[in-house]
Amino acid sequence: MKLISDDGIRYDGRKVDELRPIRIEAGVLKRADGSAYVEFGKNKVLAAVYGPRECHPRHMQNPAKAIVQCKYNMIAFSVGDRKRPGPDRRSVEISKIISEALDYVVFTENFPRTSIDVYIEVLQANAGTRCAGPTAASVALADAGIPMKDLVPSVAVGKVNDQVVLDLQKEEDNYGQADLPIAMIPRTGEILLMQMDGHMTRAEFDRAIELGVGACKRIYDIQKDALARRYTVEKTEEEPAEEAPSEQEG
Ligand code: ADP
Repeated sequence: MKLISDDGIRYDGRKVDELRPIRIEAGVLKRADGSAYVEFGKNKVLAAVYGPRECHPRHMQNPAKAIVQCKYNMIAFSVGDRKRPGPDRRSVEISKIISEALDYVVFTENFPRTSIDVYIEVLQANAGTRCAGPTAASVALADAGIPMKDLVPSVAVGKVNDQVVLDLQKEEDNYGQADLPIAMIPRTGEILLMQMDGHMTRAEFDRAIELGVGACKRIYDIQKDALARRYTVEKTEEEPAEEAPSEQEG
């Protein structure tokens, strides 16, 4: 299937190294301790964080640290065909890899015996939801005020029509040659999640990682901006601007 035109334009009009439009809002849910909403192209993802709170079941408690339990779920109307509700092998796998990435950034040793529960609900899916997930969840953790090393931006890179591309959307994911989601800490260069299916040469892999790392830096700035906007707005709501002193003629 031809997904990239001869002049290098992709199925949805992007260039090979272009991200889909990204929108991030922090603090969108009142009841959660922290929350975030992310749009990543046509993906729409909500993340909610509860805790640190008492860990249930108790046998999962760790006396030395908190455990980070992420539940990733795609809701029934998130895809074209109705998705069968409830957990399946794919959501269990994605929950596990996101839990492990988030566990690495949270200072879990500060909260022994507790659980930090992270819920990721995919409202609309168009490939790359396992990347939109940690992008949203790490903003939600920060919004909850949980001490952490850093945010976790994430994006998929891959190969389509023999070209290395950034941020695959659905058709590219389905009919492309390789899909390689990564999540990382741009500040330190540490990679916290990486999976790959398909085939690439070593040179293509290196180029893909280069594209992914550059994109994660941009996503990281959007995450930070979402948090800055959230707390700037609160400040102005709580502290109305002082009235300007009236000039007196005299
Ligand atoms: P990711 O969303 O991280 O790219 P996958 O590569 O497993 O994860 O899935 C790619 C896309 O395929 C999803 O974003 C979604 O649009 C679609 N998809 C996944 N599971 C289902 C399903 N059970 N039914 C219909 N579409 C699905």
